[in-house]
Amino acid sequence: MDKKKVEVYRKRLLAKHAELLRSVTKSEQDGREADEEATQDIVDKAANSYTKEFLFHQSDENRRVLQLIGEALERIKAGTYGECVACGEEVQQKRLEAVPWARHCIECQEKQDQGEL
Ligand SMILES: [Zn+2]
Repeated sequence: MDKKKVEVYRKRLLAKHAELLRSVTKSEQDGREADEEATQDIVDKAANSYTKEFLFHQSDENRRVLQLIGEALERIKAGTYGECVACGEEVQQKRLEAVPWARHCIECQEKQDQGEL
């Protein structure tokens, strides 16, 4: 992939990384605050644990993407960014546009989704 394109994706990855990091930190804070606000009221308690679960789930997903972004940045350093990690073919531009941290091309992703990879 040409360097200018890689640089565009690198900037996007870094921006997304910063955004997710902020949101993970924030939801951890919200989780703690929800704890501190806990009262004896059973309804409040239920709502509180629901909120916490939601926040934790959300931050799990964010962490997963953070990890993938970290790997994508490593691939940029290694000069292999944009190649499918499974078959070595170029990942489709459209796919990278939508998911710049994608590890697989569309074909391999489909195989992986079906448990064949
Ligand atoms: Zn592939």
